[in-house]
Amino acid sequence: MVDYSLARRSAIASVRRGMLDTNDVCDAHPELLRAAKNIGEEIDIPCPICSHEAMRGVRYVYGAELKRNSGRVVYPREWLVELSESYDQFTCYEVEVCLDCAWNHLIRAYQAGRRFRKPAAPRRRRR
Ligand SMILES: [Zn+2]
Repeated sequence: MVDYSLARRSAIASVRRGMLDTNDVCDAHPELLRAAKNIGEEIDIPCPICSHEAMRGVRYVYGAELKRNSGRVVYPREWLVELSESYDQFTCYEVEVCLDCAWNHLIRAYQAGRRFRKPAAPRRRRR
């Protein structure tokens, strides 16, 4: 799993220092904004840019194996479980989006799928 909280913090710090314009970070694609608004999960923290309580989490999946499902927004969580049981390997991206100012940032990315299921308990070796 790749955690993007460091990159997120540094982006926020750059905006506060004036090194990055808010337009550079508040640039959520209309489609992402729509997904966030309609099916995003509420995130209980205020937006780091506009400080409004309008944050949503959106989950995307990508993978060659997914074919037409690749790049789709996955919601609710049960879909992700279903995909994990149907495909060997794909990547899941979690993004946070602010509905008010369009701030968006990757939170984490991880591999999922049958290949990444927890292995069964190891068999006891015969002595
Ligand atoms: Zn905002």
